Amino acid sequence: MKMLSQNKMARRRFIGVTAGAVASGIAIAAKGEKKMKEITLEALPYAEDALAPTISARTVSFHYGKHHAGYVKTLNGLIAGTQYEGRTLEEIIRTAAERGDTAIFNNAAQTWNHTFYWNSLVPAGKGGAPSAKLQAAIDAAFGSFDACKDALADVAIKRFGSGWGWLVAENGKVSVESTPNAETPITRPGVKPLLVVDVWEHAYYLDWQNVRADYVKAVVGGHLNWNAASRRFA
Ligand code: MN
Repeated sequence: MKMLSQNKMARRRFIGVTAGAVASGIAIAAKGEKKMKEITLEALPYAEDALAPTISARTVSFHYGKHHAGYVKTLNGLIAGTQYEGRTLEEIIRTAAERGDTAIFNNAAQTWNHTFYWNSLVPAGKGGAPSAKLQAAIDAAFGSFDACKDALADVAIKRFGSGWGWLVAENGKVSVESTPNAETPITRPGVKPLLVVDVWEHAYYLDWQNVRADYVKAVVGGHLNWNAASRRFA
């Protein structure tokens, strides 16, 4: 793929955000540029230090600026000139999963999962509470909000190796699960992710070293966006 100047890259990112293309992650090339669509790195919904001290600015800087950005860049390189170019991120993930295009799947799913992760987190105390509808589903599945958070933390902590802990909804019911590596619930029709916790070591090692459980408990206890989960569940 042709290398882009910093200015063009910055313009594409700006265009991607301002065009309201956030949901699909697709940016449309500006007038006069070669006509192609790229998957964009979506902007962080807060400053890099907004999650500190649970997740430090240094962690966010590497996690977003190197890991997440790296998945986006690698994905664009992999899909350039293929049947995947110009398709939405969700289409790329589902098609690559079906076809067994592992490298494309991994980088596309990691792009999606990380955007969902940043948008599952909030600065301490800013997460609101489950809506009445979500609270009712939580009560039906877990018995209480605290039991739901404990269950989510538990699956995230117990994921062996790299992966993700999820709160998901399917047919109006909520449950928790974990996925390994890049795997994502959105490959399963009818499953709607509500929240996610990244338990790859790069998500916590600078701040918590080997103590994944303390990172997960701090995130689940104080940094999950229950307002967003309620909107997703509605
Ligand atoms: Mn990660």
